[in-house]
Amino acid sequence: MENYVCPVCNEALERDLMVFLKHTDHHIIEVVLKEHPKWGHQDGICQECLDYYKKTLGHEPYHDEA
Ligand SMILES: [Zn+2]
Repeated sequence: MENYVCPVCNEALERDLMVFLKHTDHHIIEVVLKEHPKWGHQDGICQECLDYYKKTLGHEPYHDEA
């Protein structure tokens, strides 16, 4: 079975469990890149990391210009 290693937390997981971030998740992508400058959103992320970064964003005041 082919495993995927999350570039953010280095956890090995089944490839099915990886998540690709969309362009609309750019605010999440920016936060991940701050901590992992070599990561690219096309590399994907695991669900656990995605939840973690979503929570991190929830603690910051978010001003939507729209
Ligand atoms: Zn991860």
